[in-house]
Amino acid sequence: MSSHLAKNCTSYPYLLSSTRRYSSNGFWTKPLNFIAGERVRPTNDNRSQDFSVVEPATGKILCESPSSGKADVDRAVKAAQEAFQIWSQVPAIERARIMQKTARKLADNLEDFARLEVTNNGKPIWEARCDIQSAIDAIDFYAGLAPSMTGQHIPCPGGSFAYTRREPLGVCVGIGAWNYPIQMAGWKSAPALACGNTMVFKPSQFTPATALLLAEVYADCGLPKGAFNVVQGEGETGHFLTSHPGVKKVSFTGSVATGKLIMKSCADDIKSLTLELGGKSPLLIFSDADLDNAAKGAVMANFLTQGEVCSNATRIFVERSIKDEFVKRFIERTKKMKIGDPHLEDTTFGALISKAHQDKVMGYIEGAKKEGATILYGGERVTPDDPALADGFYILPTIMDNVTDDMVISREEVFGPVATIMTFDTEEEAVTRANNTQLGLACGLFTKDVQRAHRVAAQLEAGNCWINNYNNLPPGVPFGGYKQSGLGRENGTATIDHYTQLKTVYVEAGDVDCPV
Ligand code: NDP
Repeated sequence: MSSHLAKNCTSYPYLLSSTRRYSSNGFWTKPLNFIAGERVRPTNDNRSQDFSVVEPATGKILCESPSSGKADVDRAVKAAQEAFQIWSQVPAIERARIMQKTARKLADNLEDFARLEVTNNGKPIWEARCDIQSAIDAIDFYAGLAPSMTGQHIPCPGGSFAYTRREPLGVCVGIGAWNYPIQMAGWKSAPALACGNTMVFKPSQFTPATALLLAEVYADCGLPKGAFNVVQGEGETGHFLTSHPGVKKVSFTGSVATGKLIMKSCADDIKSLTLELGGKSPLLIFSDADLDNAAKGAVMANFLTQGEVCSNATRIFVERSIKDEFVKRFIERTKKMKIGDPHLEDTTFGALISKAHQDKVMGYIEGAKKEGATILYGGERVTPDDPALADGFYILPTIMDNVTDDMVISREEVFGPVATIMTFDTEEEAVTRANNTQLGLACGLFTKDVQRAHRVAAQLEAGNCWINNYNNLPPGVPFGGYKQSGLGRENGTATIDHYTQLKTVYVEAGDVDCPV
């Protein structure tokens, strides 16, 4: 026993205490790739492929970064392949300890990481703190599961038996969207690493920062060099990754259109695939609902991270008899949202990710008005009082009425702060209209009728349903979509299936039964 511990003490550097603190000072002037345990500049240094990283709150350019080319991707995958030979052999309990140490170190540096996320993404500081905590929770959760991942024993006739081994896949690729940068890096890396895989992660070009810090913390806490790598770049870099023959699995979060391209790119090697894609989710408010909670739920379902949330329930169906009262309370709460500098403690609503995205969201609002929808609140760009924020990308949280199911605003994902109100008369009608979409990421309902709550939850075609709340996602709860919203699940024990493969071993206890 003691010799086992002594051996591990010398083998695993995580047991050495590290007091390093992480600082975002000077962050943007250093190379943004992290391969084989160090920050490196992309070698495919083609200046025409540089991308600008912009601070959404001010419109200021934070840095220019070269996009990673094929050589960088090859290098990262090779580093991850080499690390797989080591990491997959590390006992699960040791993997868990390295991950737990990573979680503690993230927690020690939570404030600094949250500040960097705010600067890079534009979301308010209170939300960014929750996002870092969500990554920490995922790492802790999968660290806890790692030592108990086992196979099955299956008795067979005549005393023979079979057993299954749950084996890691190899090099996994994670590709993230820009709305929850560190949370996505945590949600993807935690189950991958806990299962003994290694990973190459590509953040969105808009939000390259915090995945890199996560990689540095993992490395400092004893993760072998190359077990978690970060390559920066645009869609082309993502394509190099998903089509790389050395990659065994891709976990992607992003739009439906990109998800379809990635599925095709994975087909050649039959790579394992998790897709977390877009949504057009419904929220049903029944006449017996607690209307204050329903109004709060509608805010949570529409205006977190400036409405740039895949699971948002932008189609709010309200039972006709309570529409006016619900709308009144929803508007009252929405008016209380404070738009401004996302670094300030009392700001509840920050800046959208980019000028192009701000224009796109405004285009949806203008288009809906042309189709006959009306604005109950918001519906316009806004400039906060602080002159430093004059070039930031702000839109008021927006509530629209007189919306019909066939309008573009009801059918396409806006991915911005636009809630639409529609009325219904019967439960059956509400369910039919809620399901009338090719997407099925999430849904929600508010009612005090417990039988109706479960009946409706069972009928709604979506991977996640919230009853009397919206958008809360603890790490133990599986998350993912039905229909074109995706494949596979993130979080919860369900994700273990997506990061391991089962080997069945049959053991004969008697003679071979052969006809000749
Ligand atoms: P995109 O699909 O545009 O991009 C997502 C990621 O894929 C980015 O890192 C992007 O790089 C990369 N990428 C783009 N093209 C390719 C390609 N051909 N091959 C490989 N990778 C590629 O989505 P957004 O970043 O605009 O994110 C918004 C979308 O994400 C929304 O539809 C939203 O619903 C969805 N989403 C889904 C979530 C879920 O859990 N279901 C959660 C959050 C968002 P780059 O950015 O550099 O172009």
